[in-house]
Amino acid sequence: MKTLKIAIQKSGRLNEKSVELLKNCGLNFENYKSSLISPVSNFPLEILFLRDDDIPEYVQDGIADLGIVGENVIQETEVKVNYLQRLGFGKCSLKIAISNNSDITDLQHLNGKSIATTYPAILGKFLKENKIQSEIRNISGSVEIAPGLGLADAICDLVSTGGTLKSNGLKPFADVMSSEAVLIGRNGDEDNILIQELIQRIQSVLRAKETKYVVLNIHRDNLPKIMDLLPGVKSPTIVPLAEADWVAVHTVIPERDFWARISSLKQAGAEGIVVMPIEKIIL
Ligand code: ATP
Ligand code: MG
Repeated sequence: MKTLKIAIQKSGRLNEKSVELLKNCGLNFENYKSSLISPVSNFPLEILFLRDDDIPEYVQDGIADLGIVGENVIQETEVKVNYLQRLGFGKCSLKIAISNNSDITDLQHLNGKSIATTYPAILGKFLKENKIQSEIRNISGSVEIAPGLGLADAICDLVSTGGTLKSNGLKPFADVMSSEAVLIGRNGDEDNILIQELIQRIQSVLRAKETKYVVLNIHRDNLPKIMDLLPGVKSPTIVPLAEADWVAVHTVIPERDFWARISSLKQAGAEGIVVMPIEKIIL
């Protein structure tokens, strides 16, 4: 079967998490910083390390079969690719930001103003949808210093914590799009068995990340009370303990409401609660 190619960012914000995800999928490869291509020794796959801007086009044109890239880059390059899986990392949003002392208070105030950005296509679409006519200043980097230099009245840039905006005397003003890293593929490749296998591995790693394995001890009388609190993959496993009328309950809990659930379990009589990370969940 033909060896697949997956393109990931060579260096930058998505590199480390992309490599970690692929390694967690059980793929063995060397992460040489100097090489552009790295073969996987235990799966028919090669990893291409590229600038993130090039990834959507490489996938569209079939040079790579798969890619990991931020949604913002795909939208900006306007290529036609398939979204195969959201990956839950590289989360950020593209925002319009203005100086702390700006007199802009409404989106319509951007009419006739200039906005500096490295995302002219996405910003242009946003302005058109909102019927605003601004001048888009397409610059190639360090967008956040543009208002201070008098180069633009506002900026449109990626924000995660907002720290960079703050340290440049800027404040977020409007949300243009939110983004995270996604796995993309080429239209028409959906039935490829190797691609499906990889997607399944990725999904099992992501599922495991969202959950914790929990073991707790409880008196049999309190068992009905905690059953409602435990979703489990199917139903919890219940094992008798040496101490009469006590059982150990093994189950899986979603990470997102983890602490709320743990405290309800304690209130329901759970003791000796042990929480463990899960490596993979294969359904
Ligand atoms: P390359 O050299 O590959 O072109 P880059 O400088 O264009 O890299 P990075 O800054 O490494 O890109 O960001 C890669 C991606 O990380 C972004 O396209 C975006 O999807 C995501 N990201 C997450 N948080 C942020 C943030 N605060 N600022 C910029 N990008 C972010
Ligand atoms: Mg880039």
